[in-house]
Amino acid sequence: MPDPVSCASCGKPATTRCSGCLNAPEHQPDDAPVTAYCDSKCQHQQWPAHKAQCRILMKRKTLLRIAELLKTALFAYRECVYDMPLTGVKYEEGILRLLMDPRKIPYRPWQIPFPSDLSISPQHKEAVLATNQCTTAQCLLGPLARYLLGGIKSIFKVVEVHAEPVVPWKVVWLNGSKDESRTVACTAVTHTILLVWASGEGWVVDITGCQFGFRDILVPLDSYFKKRVKSLVRGPFAYTEHETSDLDVFDSKLALNDTDTKRLKAAHERAGRLHFAKFVQERFDRYESPRPSEELLSGTPEEFQVKLAQFESGLKVHMASFVDFAFGKERLN
Ligand SMILES: [Zn+2]
Ligand SMILES: [Zn+2]
Repeated sequence: MPDPVSCASCGKPATTRCSGCLNAPEHQPDDAPVTAYCDSKCQHQQWPAHKAQCRILMKRKTLLRIAELLKTALFAYRECVYDMPLTGVKYEEGILRLLMDPRKIPYRPWQIPFPSDLSISPQHKEAVLATNQCTTAQCLLGPLARYLLGGIKSIFKVVEVHAEPVVPWKVVWLNGSKDESRTVACTAVTHTILLVWASGEGWVVDITGCQFGFRDILVPLDSYFKKRVKSLVRGPFAYTEHETSDLDVFDSKLALNDTDTKRLKAAHERAGRLHFAKFVQERFDRYESPRPSEELLSGTPEEFQVKLAQFESGLKVHMASFVDFAFGKERLN
């Protein structure tokens, strides 16, 4: 987009930009122009005319920050409680291969910190952390997402779709002792996403799409469905999931002949999710207004990055106490 050089009010060379709408994501091509002024007097004069558009663009920026925060929360959680015996990642013939060593299956505890000694690109690490997590993410992040979205006027729903991966992944068990390798069909995988409507604009929030090579976490609804979606599977539904709702369904379906291992694994995962829930509850639930989410989501891009990093490190410290508990090192506080 060309840098506007003229003041939106008087047309003279501009020196300042409206920080409210600066760097807002586009919903339609070129619908997030930079608004600039020569001085504060012109900015003040132009505000009544600019206000409506600025508010819409600001809302988009808030949505993007909500998506970033949700992604940060999921990935921080997954880095602390990972459940696969991953020993490496290989990108070959357009497929991401997740190499698993069956001898390293973390039987007890089942969830362990993500291996820190892997040489893996940040992009592949995100893909691996998000693998098979789209349902989990909707559940784990439900209350947090509703809290954050509750702070802006919006409608939000979840939907299950058949999506087309850009980069499909495959789990490869080493040694060949377990032949459970599984290729995600390149044509259609089942994927759960969040739909949000704000200011009359539809958006898709997709924080686990990175497992299929979908890089953007906030995408205009129309272009997401045109580019990514083959067909609708279920929904849209009201977004009522809470941290363990998928595990609750699993529990109700447990048959008598299901192994103790399976039950204990689910119980362990539940404990981890509830520990995450405690973090969210302590941060947000004691407030009646959406004020803390506004605080978290406001500020300059630099200020927001600092808040995001603080949120991430706080969550990791919190989850580390669960990991210590799972290893029998300490009691949960
Ligand atoms: Zn001016
Ligand atoms: Zn503006």
